[in-house]
Amino acid sequence: MLDKTNNPSFIALQGIGKSYLQPNGQTITIIENINLELRTEQIIAILGPSGSGKSTLMRMIAGLIPPTSGNVLYYDRPLTGLNPGVAIVFQNFALYPWLTVLENVELGLKAKGEAKESREKKALKMIDVIGLDGFENAYPKELSGGMRQRVGFARALAVEPELLCMDEPFSALDVLTAENLRYELLDLWLERRIPTKSILIVTHGIEEAVTLADRIIVLGRNPGRIRADLPVTLPHYRDRKSPEFQAIVDQVYKIITQPDLDVDTINTSTLTSQAKSETPQRYQFLPSVRIGSIAGLIEILEDRQGYDLYRLAQELLLEVDDILPILDAAKLLELIVLSEGDISITTLGQKFVQGNIDERKQLIRLQILSHIRLAQQINQLIQSKRNHRIPEEMVLDILEKYFTTGEARAQLETVIHWGRYAELYSYDEPSGEIFFEQEISEEIEETISV
Ligand code: ADP
Ligand code: MG
Repeated sequence: MLDKTNNPSFIALQGIGKSYLQPNGQTITIIENINLELRTEQIIAILGPSGSGKSTLMRMIAGLIPPTSGNVLYYDRPLTGLNPGVAIVFQNFALYPWLTVLENVELGLKAKGEAKESREKKALKMIDVIGLDGFENAYPKELSGGMRQRVGFARALAVEPELLCMDEPFSALDVLTAENLRYELLDLWLERRIPTKSILIVTHGIEEAVTLADRIIVLGRNPGRIRADLPVTLPHYRDRKSPEFQAIVDQVYKIITQPDLDVDTINTSTLTSQAKSETPQRYQFLPSVRIGSIAGLIEILEDRQGYDLYRLAQELLLEVDDILPILDAAKLLELIVLSEGDISITTLGQKFVQGNIDERKQLIRLQILSHIRLAQQINQLIQSKRNHRIPEEMVLDILEKYFTTGEARAQLETVIHWGRYAELYSYDEPSGEIFFEQEISEEIEETISV
């Protein structure tokens, strides 16, 4: 009964891809080749790190933006323009401040051409269902965040969409309000008080996904693609402390923390990577994390071998999603290993924590030189220049083949920070040049020849 994997499909994505032309003329692929069938009677969670294309995918399903390749099918017909079966709840509520609650809720119905009377009737009914009774004539600014998002829900639900799409609907709310609203929504859904066939929720919270969803789709980034599609058959309401719940959470962690990059296949020469441009190109992704954070984390872990990621997050009062980038960075540098949600420090990691500042730098320098492709490329570029200085634009040009402009900048900042820490190269802020200082380059040559 709980297995809903064979329910009828009403929306299907076929070979969906999305690319954008960047200001420098390069095309960047945000999402590639996504195939997906959305079935009835399911809460479907799309889970993935920030930038993996979750919002873009949802917007394509809603018909707000067209895919660059492939088709969105609505009852087997390719979609042109807005999807008539979809309504969206946005993260930042997206209410009109000059309209009352009632008027905001009526908006979707108005767009559908509903007559004044029936539109008011339907809106009032949904306002009641969603717990906004008494606030019909209030303006958004008079409402708390939680109440505003209720207006967002009521507006989306008033049109009786077949698919209710929600883009991180709880993430702008404080923890308690979010939890409350999440369960109220689940109540409405389980008691069938809302008329939707299915719900699609975009989230970056693993627990949120496992709490709500019948099916979890994990997206990977760079470019966005489906990495896993998991049914969750635990009955509602789910006990977050139960071993069954934890097992699913662990499984999803495992997928998210597993390396999704085949770094080895990446050749340092751009020529070869262009030659195999038929296959999607990936580039090693550097989490935007400072070496200091990595050091801090490893120090915390030192006495806790085999520590569970979930417990660690709880202990530090952090979201798992906040720790993941730090762990990813530590893993890239081989200071820790992660398996099935358990973290252990490697021998190298032990050496790192026990070392003094110079020993730490030396160790990180070696790790960067052997594992961080971008730093290797920068090193080579600098070496090939007679004055041992390169403009940062050279690095951005490499990165913008794989990343959006904003992300390329973040990658550059990270690699500069790491390289500076390891005294591999230096950076001159005003001129934007990356360079070797004389002594540094000699030291590197020593390091390399070791
Ligand atoms: P998520 O919701 O998973 O965080 P998004 O779908 O918002 O991811 O974005 C995925 C990537 O696409 C990001 O790197 C973002 O910068 C990029 N992107 C989104 N919209 C545009 C656009 N209109 N032009 C260029 N890049 C975009
Ligand atoms: Mg998003």
